Amino acid sequence: MYKYKTREDWLEAAIEIFRPRFDATVYGFTLPSKVRVSVGFPPKGGLSNNRRCFGICVRDSGVADRIPQIYLNPTIEKVGGEMGFLAILIHELIHACGIKNHGKDFKRMGEALGLEGNMRSSHASSWLQEDFKGIALQLGDFPHAPVVPALQFLKPDKCRIHKCACPECGYTVRIAKKMDRSGFA
Ligand SMILES: [Zn+2]
Repeated sequence: MYKYKTREDWLEAAIEIFRPRFDATVYGFTLPSKVRVSVGFPPKGGLSNNRRCFGICVRDSGVADRIPQIYLNPTIEKVGGEMGFLAILIHELIHACGIKNHGKDFKRMGEALGLEGNMRSSHASSWLQEDFKGIALQLGDFPHAPVVPALQFLKPDKCRIHKCACPECGYTVRIAKKMDRSGFA
C-alpha cells in the first residue's frame, strides 16, 4: 500500500525516522534541519558494473541555499537489505552532517547507526536490515521501480541498411539509411 505519492516524500519521512538516531550518538554530528533527497543518477559511475556509485551527497557548501542534497541511484532495486535505498540513505546522511570522507568520524557514526564493512562502500548490518523491515511497513510501499540498465541502455543498432517493402506487392529491398530518409521508399 502506498502512503506517499513521491519518492522524495517517502525518503524525507525516512530521514525523520533516522534523525533522532543521529542525535542520540555521542559523537556530536547531527543532521541539518533540512536535507533534500531525490532519486537520480550520480555524475559519475551510476551505471558502472564493478564500482557502481549508489548515492551522492552534495554537502551544504556546494548548494546555493546551503541545504544539502542527496541523490540515490535509480538502479537500486531494494528498499531494505544490505545495500538498498535505506542503507545508502543512511550513508549519505552521514555526509550531510558535514563529514567529508570515510575516515574516523565517518566510521564511528556509521557503526553507531548500524553500517558495517569498508565505509567507502558500507552496507547495513543484520540488525539494521531487520530494523528496515519495520520502517518499510511504517512508510508503506516505496513509489519507485528500478531502472534496469540492461534494458534501458542497449547499444544502438549500428546497421545503416534498412529494409523497405513496397506496400503494393510486398517486394522487399535493402537500402542505405540515407536513401530511406530522402523519401526513396
Ligand atoms: Zn560516502
